[in-house]
Amino acid sequence: MTALTIVLERMLADIEALGRIGTDPRGGLSRLGLSSQEQLAHTWFKQRAREAGMSLRSDAAGNLFARVQGGAPALAPLMSGSHLDTVPNGGKYDGAAGVVIALEVARVIAECDVRLRHPFEVVVFRAEEPSPFGMSTFGSRALAGRVRPGELDAVDAAGCSLREALRAVGGEPAQIDAVRMSPGAVAAYLEVHNEQGPHLERAGLPLGVVTEIAGIERARWRVIGEPNHSGTTSMLERRDALMASAEIALELERLARNYEGAVGTVGVINVEPNAANIVPGCVDLRWEIRSCFAADLQALGNAVERAARAIVERRGLRLEELARTGSVPASADPVVRDALEEACTARGLTAPLLRSMAGHDASHMAALTKMGMLFIRSTGAKSHVPEEHSPPESLAAAAAVMLDALVRLDRMLD
Ligand SMILES: [Zn+2]
Repeated sequence: MTALTIVLERMLADIEALGRIGTDPRGGLSRLGLSSQEQLAHTWFKQRAREAGMSLRSDAAGNLFARVQGGAPALAPLMSGSHLDTVPNGGKYDGAAGVVIALEVARVIAECDVRLRHPFEVVVFRAEEPSPFGMSTFGSRALAGRVRPGELDAVDAAGCSLREALRAVGGEPAQIDAVRMSPGAVAAYLEVHNEQGPHLERAGLPLGVVTEIAGIERARWRVIGEPNHSGTTSMLERRDALMASAEIALELERLARNYEGAVGTVGVINVEPNAANIVPGCVDLRWEIRSCFAADLQALGNAVERAARAIVERRGLRLEELARTGSVPASADPVVRDALEEACTARGLTAPLLRSMAGHDASHMAALTKMGMLFIRSTGAKSHVPEEHSPPESLAAAAAVMLDALVRLDRMLD
């Protein structure tokens, strides 16, 4: 068997090549989900996969799969990947790093004389970041059967529907339900992603092993009071929707602190009529909470709702729920996690265990298969900005660890 050796230069060249697709005049990258820029990045990936001798297929959700055949082609594939869309004016590493590392691992496997028993597939998920259509992790949710009814009818600011945008990148909206994979269709899924946080930077370490990915609950509420003259309406007669919303926001903050590791945010408050001399009559408020523990997420969500209803009742207002969405927390599979930890140890790498408070495609893959995830260091703990960066040694270490872990899993799994 030829020695399995990752080529760092190839990965760095790939990161730079992708960094020239969808450049934003503000200095970063804007390859929004389902845009022509994201599509250019997919086309770039297809060319690299063909060069590596991989076979390609795409699905109705616009996901892309590149395969290296295994010694036992009937086995379900081992899979790795991430996404190639970015946030507006984002950086070169979020998503791209995971795709580039999976591609490099595939090239090394393809070049080597003795194949893995399992096929190995690199997946590029469609539209992972929040897109102009008000949704995120589109491709991986389609695989997990989690695209909600009516979601394809969403429109962007220009009036284009998700359905049309999906068609324009080669997807088939009418076939979206057929994208769903059955559990067992993938032997295991591994993803590398930049940490987007400070832990590895603080510890001075190249990579870490993810234990859980937080679940997220989001709601959009309308708090309805009564607009009136701000001078002539006494403090006792007001039904002020903004003050009620402020109280709800503070209560959400207080409640979130009661749950270890949980976070809660009120990110949007739209006030009507938003005038200096009118008591606010109506507020649209959007909040989210996150936790790695399903019971905490549910208890916190219930507590926020109870508190909000008590606040509006006491103030004589009404509360309407306009939208509510949720995703459950996901845990790394112990077998995959062990394989990653053992691979780190074998290479003399100290890899701390980390929780992910950001959502990832991997959390939806966990519903389908054994999931494992590595974080690589984010220089300056920065992400979703043009200067986003991960050190080359982090990329090299993660690719080597992923390759070792795949070889271990190939022996252990059916
Ligand atoms: Zn990402």
